[in-house]
Amino acid sequence: AVEVHGAHKWFGANHVLAGIDLTVQPGQVAVILGPSGSGKSTLLRTVNHLEKLDRGHVSVNGELIGVRRHGGRLKELGERAILRQRAGIGFVFQNFNLFPHLTALENVAAAPVATGRVDKAAARELAAELLARVGLADKNGAYPRQLSGGQQQRVAIARALALRPGVILFDEPTSALDPELVGEVLGVIDDLASTGTTLVVVTHEIGFARRVADLVVFLDHGVVVEQGTPAEVLDHPRHPRTRDFLAKVL
Ligand code: ATP
Ligand code: MG
Repeated sequence: AVEVHGAHKWFGANHVLAGIDLTVQPGQVAVILGPSGSGKSTLLRTVNHLEKLDRGHVSVNGELIGVRRHGGRLKELGERAILRQRAGIGFVFQNFNLFPHLTALENVAAAPVATGRVDKAAARELAAELLARVGLADKNGAYPRQLSGGQQQRVAIARALALRPGVILFDEPTSALDPELVGEVLGVIDDLASTGTTLVVVTHEIGFARRVADLVVFLDHGVVVEQGTPAEVLDHPRHPRTRDFLAKVL
């Protein structure tokens, strides 16, 4: 599960997360919607401690992220502990962020090797399996520049899976793609959803949200304006700000 409690974040005077409470149950898919600048990426980045909260806390599968309890207070974890936690949380970025000088296979195998969990041969075997799973069995030796955007993003998803994360976070995984490539990436995320991995997906793909989400969360100005099932939030939004937003993206 991903649990966010009383989350506040300021960038200078900009109150970017203004008291967020959110629970995504194990195996659930949550889709986060909201206008540009509403705090979606910041919220996602606090879940694996790429951003520190100023108030509140996040826990993933029962473990506090980035901090530990010390007396009555929360104390920042050391860098190694944070890296260990981050290894259990997959993150897929809008712009893929693959290593350009590594092949698809090497991109996927890199983290398992670096964390010392497996030897190189086992990591390559796992990477080949994961590339096959995202439909890229024939691209093991390709470099990112030799792949389409949709293929690069599927490599990025395979890479996120390589550490067998309990939770995967997606920040607009299809918004940098040409429209005809969106479906292949969403299809891979659909498959992941059906395997029971907990997913938190920032996306404007309303069709995907309808099909796959257990929970839809509408964020505006750093607060959760409305959350519920796709039928509740997408078909019967209660808040005018949700209705305005949906009228623009639908
Ligand atoms: P988009 O849909 O455009 O990706 P978003 O909902 O993901 O928007 P965030 O990226 O979370 O929004 O940004 C929320 C607010 O925080 C914005 O006003 C942004 O300018 C500000 N912000 C984000 N990151 C930083 C940073 N590192 N330093 C200062 N301000 C930041
Ligand atoms: Mg964003």
